[in-house]
Amino acid sequence: MPRIFCIANQKGGVGKTTTTLNLAAGLAQLGQRVLVVDLDPQGNATMGSGVDKRALALSIYDVLLEAAGVADARTRCASGGYDVLGANRELAGAEVELVTLDRRDQRLRDALMSVTSDYDFVLIDCPPSLSLLTLNGLCAAHGVIVPMQCEYFALEGLSDLVNTIKQVHANLNRQLQVIGLLRVMFDARITLQNQVSEQLKAHFGDKVFDTVIPRNVRLAEAPSYGQPGVVFDPGAKGAQAFVAFARELLQRMEKA
Ligand code: ADP
Ligand code: MG
Repeated sequence: MPRIFCIANQKGGVGKTTTTLNLAAGLAQLGQRVLVVDLDPQGNATMGSGVDKRALALSIYDVLLEAAGVADARTRCASGGYDVLGANRELAGAEVELVTLDRRDQRLRDALMSVTSDYDFVLIDCPPSLSLLTLNGLCAAHGVIVPMQCEYFALEGLSDLVNTIKQVHANLNRQLQVIGLLRVMFDARITLQNQVSEQLKAHFGDKVFDTVIPRNVRLAEAPSYGQPGVVFDPGAKGAQAFVAFARELLQRMEKA
């Protein structure tokens, strides 16, 4: 049974997709079999893996509507060494179409059952909302990894997400837990970021990952080459931090 994790934060632009792709590539380098599920109609995780979202024959949309299985719809990120269940704008329609269907929030979970023996990790890149799509991610997952920037309003946004996770845990998915908070785009020269980082540790203790992902332009450049940063420039500080994060996550899983 793979570990299934959502990369979630209802804010946009906080580093969810960057975390998903680089963690996937980092875990793949450490010998893990990984599936990335793109659950965002923007399709950034798809494109950032070198898969053209406009050319997808089958996507997560078809899977959620039970028109295709995961095994048929997945593609490969050759550079990153992981599989991708891609998304494009079609997925935005699924939100509406799912509402009237039965098991509407369990569709992803049901679909992933058919590929459990193929993977050690499934990483779900969530959209920037607490929508039915995100709910499908949370119902399918064992845990949530929350990337966050250490900014003034970071803690405030976090309470909505933590409440949603609690609700899902209580009502829909007893397995769900917060795996950890990942500090991303961190700039140690900025006093406020250090202060917020300390607050996070005070509030959340060892739920805060030890690894910190620095702000690093090579990570931002990589998607336009269709590669995770970890592969695009392995020597860059950001890439090395993500490999360290993959290693930390594996160690935590062994202890758990
Ligand atoms: P989300 O998926 O939460 O919307 P992204 O992962 O797409 O966020 O990141 C938002 C933007 O910030 C992207 O342009 C991305 O390349 C950039 N970015 C993410 N992480 C870093 C980082 N550590 N250093 C520099 N730029 C980053
Ligand atoms: Mg994204």
